Amino acid sequence: MASDTPWPLPLDAPAADDLSRCVHCGLCLNSCPTFSVTGLEAESPRGRIYLARAVDEGRLEMTPAVQAHWDLCLQCRACEAVCPSGVAYGRIMEHVRAQVAAAPKKDRLQRRLRSFALRNVVARPRVLAAMVAPARWYAGSPLRGLVRRTRLLRSFGRLAVMEAQLPRRPGKPVRPGDTLAAPLGAAARVTLFTGCVMSELFGGVHRATARVLARSHVAAVATPGQVCCGALHAHDGDLAFARDLARKNIDALEGGDIIVVNSAGCGAAMKEYGQLLAHDPDYAARAAAFAARVRDFSEYVVTLPGRPAGQLDARVAYQDACHLAHAQRIREQPRALLREVQGCTPVATAGADMCCGAAGIYSLVEPGMSAELRARKAAQFREHAPDVVVTANPGCQMQYEAAVREAGLDARVMHLAELLDEAQRNARRR
Ligand code: SF4
Ligand code: SF4
Repeated sequence: MASDTPWPLPLDAPAADDLSRCVHCGLCLNSCPTFSVTGLEAESPRGRIYLARAVDEGRLEMTPAVQAHWDLCLQCRACEAVCPSGVAYGRIMEHVRAQVAAAPKKDRLQRRLRSFALRNVVARPRVLAAMVAPARWYAGSPLRGLVRRTRLLRSFGRLAVMEAQLPRRPGKPVRPGDTLAAPLGAAARVTLFTGCVMSELFGGVHRATARVLARSHVAAVATPGQVCCGALHAHDGDLAFARDLARKNIDALEGGDIIVVNSAGCGAAMKEYGQLLAHDPDYAARAAAFAARVRDFSEYVVTLPGRPAGQLDARVAYQDACHLAHAQRIREQPRALLREVQGCTPVATAGADMCCGAAGIYSLVEPGMSAELRARKAAQFREHAPDVVVTANPGCQMQYEAAVREAGLDARVMHLAELLDEAQRNARRR
């Protein structure tokens, strides 16, 4: 760790070793969504690391202009995946954000409100459930059709985007302790991580996950006591709170079961609990052991022998979730599972592995860049007209709902688990 630096929080300062790994080769530039939009070096991975190093070495003040360049980063980690020097960009940016969160800035109130909401709404299941319930009701109600037909929201930019992002059929929530599909003759048992927004708005994905596992004789248990993974807090620079949530999950889910996660962002964060708690003498070893048990849904399902065949006649555009492809380096497994589905025709779209602009709460706090990236996806969907858009993360699913609508298509947006579940049911009916 850097010490005696100008950072406001020396404890969570980016490590000087991490910062010095960047050799300025520029091989990451073409993978960076923000650089591809603005063309500005300061909005590239290399530029952002350069700024962080200059602040770390006391050559530059952490001015609002410097912070704005970091704020625009999606934390998609596409740069990290292509970096030949192994720069841990995700870790650097989480620590940089911790410094920004602690620094004086003109929009301090906005930051405080965001941090308050992340701590007191997102991480509190009852409060979150109460806040999300009207949106869930609206999403499946006839009122939605009326609002869309009359274009009531067209003058309310951000609200209109949020409306377009709502899933079409959110389904009943799945919360820790709920009973899921029971397999016949269960051969194995896993813990299903339910998450925060995922559990309230994507209960259907959790049920589909449990059914797919059950057909391979694996019982998925929504183990009680688990809480939000802390990814959104860490990305926002609230590392202290992210650590608290990680400790709670470790306490609740300690044991031998594999932990299956169907949200790419949660899975990436939980696989890095060892790193997050490396300096906690009581939890460091437990966190590393916990992280080793975490598997993404596709990563786990692809290892199951004798998984049933599926049938779905559809042109399917798979879009990589950043925290699956870049952070967890899982690209092949979802595609392999889709190839097993009879009738499923892959549709290759340009930039399938480039960020869609959802990025946690990014679409709310950086709506301009988020809209630009969504428009690129919409243009690809318009050109290739898939029947189904598939991904593996709730934020991406929401952004693709809006992108499909923007493209003027009626394509379905599905989680990989939902597609496999439907395909397996179709195959059984034949
Ligand atoms: S982050 Fe990696 S790829 Fe990008 S400039 Fe630095 S060393 Fe090169
Ligand atoms: S995390 Fe994504 S947006 Fe941020 S610098 Fe890296 S590639 Fe660019």
